[in-house]
Amino acid sequence: MKTYNIITYGCQMNEHDSENIAGLLEAMDYQFEEDAFKADVVVINTCSVRENADKRFFGVLGQFKKVRTHNPDFVLCVCGCMPQQPHIVEKINKQFSWVDIVFGTQNIAEFPELLEKRISTGRKQRSIIDNNPVIDEAEMKPKRMHRHKALVNITFGCNNFCTYCIVPYTRGREKSRVMSEVIREIECLSADGVKEVMLLGQNVDSYRDPAGHTFADLIRAVNKIDGIERIRFMTSHPKDISDDMIDCFRTCEKLCHNIHLPVQSGSDRLLKRMNRHYDTTRYLEIVDKLRAVCPDITISTDIIVAFPGETEDDFEGTLDIARRVRYDSAFTFIYSPREGTPAAKFPDQIPDEIAHERFDRLVDVMNRISLEKNMEYKGKTYDVLVEGVSKNADDTYAGRTDGFKLVNFTSDKKPEEIIGTTVSVLITESKTFSLEGREIT
Ligand code: SF4
Repeated sequence: MKTYNIITYGCQMNEHDSENIAGLLEAMDYQFEEDAFKADVVVINTCSVRENADKRFFGVLGQFKKVRTHNPDFVLCVCGCMPQQPHIVEKINKQFSWVDIVFGTQNIAEFPELLEKRISTGRKQRSIIDNNPVIDEAEMKPKRMHRHKALVNITFGCNNFCTYCIVPYTRGREKSRVMSEVIREIECLSADGVKEVMLLGQNVDSYRDPAGHTFADLIRAVNKIDGIERIRFMTSHPKDISDDMIDCFRTCEKLCHNIHLPVQSGSDRLLKRMNRHYDTTRYLEIVDKLRAVCPDITISTDIIVAFPGETEDDFEGTLDIARRVRYDSAFTFIYSPREGTPAAKFPDQIPDEIAHERFDRLVDVMNRISLEKNMEYKGKTYDVLVEGVSKNADDTYAGRTDGFKLVNFTSDKKPEEIIGTTVSVLITESKTFSLEGREIT
């Protein structure tokens, strides 16, 4: 039996692509091998969003050089966002001759053919498609990482061209899946025991299928599927979120009371420079509407610190919006230039020292607010969908509230009885990034 391993970097899109690749390999009778250095086929699914990801990826690639000496049949494959950039493929070809197969984000379905060709001819395979008009995953049967929850793509690619972002170049222009196909997939997932679905897109709010169905229409349709208990989505864009969608938090009881709404900056000047197409007034209006419709909604965000040209005043604007919204959590990043994006050419890049100093100040504010918000949970009981045994201790389980709060809790139940079920948990302790508690029976 031949074996495989997949190393995945980046976002949920990449995680789901890796599930699809695993499904393709298992259909070819490959079996998962825990240790990547012992597998016959290794796929490295790459991310381009952050500079660190590039560095880590090339480091990992180097570690596989020796593997072929021990296993002449070993096949090393690279896919994901990085090979969608010509300079990366050039670098792989020049410096990493032991890479056998390179493919992109928009031709994953071609992977079995590339693998068979590599094995039968011994020749290296390179296949990258830009702006594939066809949605590539139609016939895929992903090997899901979890039994009770599933990732479901609803759109692919992005049309927004935020000036710092590489995604429109690596994943192509936006395409929406036909609503009836998404519904059919979720009905099958439900029949298979899935209780929670995460609808995925770079910008879910601009979902529009050929029949004109909107994201709100899709949520309402998913809300009717028997067996599905929780609906989540990722990622919203403040420029496209509609009142109709916001109203779904009132009308769709399965829609989780949680939203990830990237703000990126609290400076209108920088938002314009980022090509985000909203300002802070519009953003705060959306937050007010969400809280009016759904008072207990949890809100997380993405923030870029030290975008080119950021002044102390701009940064104060970011601290101000963070304090006004009072986010439950935030992904904060120091801006790093991505080759090929407009912002990488902006002349007024911010020195590292200032960037780190601002980053630390922002993280302090964010963490204090997160802890204060988590303190409000102490002494109250919440429904928690149990995801597995906690990473911290064997006798503790981990799960999520409806609002996506991570809860580590104790229970007398065995893993096979409790994982994948929803239980009531009394919160006994609040930390900055998680809650602790015990199951109430
Ligand atoms: S919306 Fe902007 S940040 Fe998000 S994927 Fe598209 S270009 Fe990138």
